[in-house]
Amino acid sequence: MFTIAPVTRVRVSADPQAEVVAELQQGTELEVLGKKEAFLQVSAWHPGRGRVAGWVHRSFVGGQKPESVHAVDAAIVDSVVPRCHACSNANWALVPFKHDYAGGHPNIPTGFLDSIDVKARVCLGCGLVELCLDKEGRKRLTEWLKQ
Ligand SMILES: [Zn+2]
Repeated sequence: MFTIAPVTRVRVSADPQAEVVAELQQGTELEVLGKKEAFLQVSAWHPGRGRVAGWVHRSFVGGQKPESVHAVDAAIVDSVVPRCHACSNANWALVPFKHDYAGGHPNIPTGFLDSIDVKARVCLGCGLVELCLDKEGRKRLTEWLKQ
């Protein structure tokens, strides 16, 4: 088995909120040790950490080594993952973003009290930071555009 998502988090237990043991790059080979609901217990080689073991969500794992991010089923990952235009890496970390000077989170105002939080994605290859919406934000944007 291989990781097919751009980044797969290995967690200490079969729970999406559990502590992250390591983050695996796309195409990492996994040894499957066990199964529990939607999670697989795996062992993998991490370039910086050596052998790591823990739990990964089944949707991040596939039987074939992916050739590129575009080979990943769009329904499996959050959405099509863009490549970094600086270094062509496709591994991004989605993080909260805050303007220091504004003292708040950037957002798209969609109503008097409603807004969509703007997040940032950080390229794990070169550190480029770009603003973007997360999955929830894109869903809310789509709904708002339909109004
Ligand atoms: Zn980059």
